[in-house]
Amino acid sequence: MEAEKIKFKKHIILVLVIVFLLTTSSFGNLSLGAESNLQVHIIDVGQGDSIYLSLPNGENMLVDGGPGTTATQLITYLQNRGVNTINYVVATHPHEDHIGGLDNVISTFTIGKVYMPAVTYTTQAYTNLINAISSKGLTSIKTFKGVVILNTTTNAKNLSIMMLSPISATYSDINNYSPFIRVVYGTTEFLLTGDAGTIVETEVKNSGQTMYADVLKVAHHGSNTATDVTFLNDVNPSSAAISVGSGNTDGHPTVATLDKLKAKNINIFRTDLQGSVVYTTNGTGYLVNVVPWFVGMIIPTSGPIITAAPTSTPTPTATVSPKPTPKPAIHVKSVKLNKTSLSILKGKTFKLIPTINPSNSSNKKVTWKSSNVKIASVSSTGTVKGIKKGIAYIMVVTVDGKKSAKCKVVVK
Ligand SMILES: [Zn+2]
Repeated sequence: MEAEKIKFKKHIILVLVIVFLLTTSSFGNLSLGAESNLQVHIIDVGQGDSIYLSLPNGENMLVDGGPGTTATQLITYLQNRGVNTINYVVATHPHEDHIGGLDNVISTFTIGKVYMPAVTYTTQAYTNLINAISSKGLTSIKTFKGVVILNTTTNAKNLSIMMLSPISATYSDINNYSPFIRVVYGTTEFLLTGDAGTIVETEVKNSGQTMYADVLKVAHHGSNTATDVTFLNDVNPSSAAISVGSGNTDGHPTVATLDKLKAKNINIFRTDLQGSVVYTTNGTGYLVNVVPWFVGMIIPTSGPIITAAPTSTPTPTATVSPKPTPKPAIHVKSVKLNKTSLSILKGKTFKLIPTINPSNSSNKKVTWKSSNVKIASVSSTGTVKGIKKGIAYIMVVTVDGKKSAKCKVVVK
């Protein structure tokens, strides 16, 4: 029964995956009602890890801060997304490529809770981090299996962030202190793994905790020390993100790890090849800002935007508290634009008008996105403006992220 549900869910989520072939690396503008969505940013910090979560309850979380060399870029990245307060900071383990930038982050932002493993280290990076935490008057919470960072209901969906590990009191390899963090929003799950190795994979499995996730942050930059086939079968992700620096001297990610992911037709995203990888989920499916580096399913590359329509509507998960029964939703069947292509002069504007079918759909809200804002911009109400000569694509997406239409814009 459980296996069947998981298989069904994976199928639904696979078909819900919408890949935007964006020519700009900036995905932060794509709002899709961003405030009610969960975004998971696997930030490109070179060889290291830093994962920013913009939570649908309005809070922010940061798992690792990358190496010291990219701290300034990381801080700018977060500030550009309007981050002032980071409610939850997790230092997965004391290696420099994970905590080197965290002291700066902690000094710069208002910080809520800090989570760290119960292990000390004798490096400058570690000392700097400890000093940054104490100079803010904070103390850290120890990471351990069962630690609940968040468990709440938002937008009538469950939002929970929980640690599945560390399980042992001590580990000989400091990487293994990295907590497995499972993030659940509605029916969409992420599993973050830091640099934990196969020992932890086995421990978590033996503890009987649910590991299934739609998106796996591959452990230890894709090294051979983790991502066992058994573990991959248990997590059964449709997408895997590898945070790794180009030209790193550790040989990450390894061919063996990539082959294991490919063998399961998992879409792979890599920060070394693609920059920051951003997942956006409304709790029933997710979008990724870049094209998979390896795709298990065939995605044609001739058009700028590929959307896969869901074959059926996923059943909503039960909410914790009983709510009055809402009126049955009338689902959007399609969205069309008054133009599928247009040409405008530089500096001129054109208003695109979406038509939503059926016209009595429950939620007719849409969001707009340009494939290249340097060529053509689009306002939140669909007004296109020619910026400079070239071709861009304007896309309209229904607020649930399920239906979209596009218009080719030639700026002359
Ligand atoms: Zn690392």
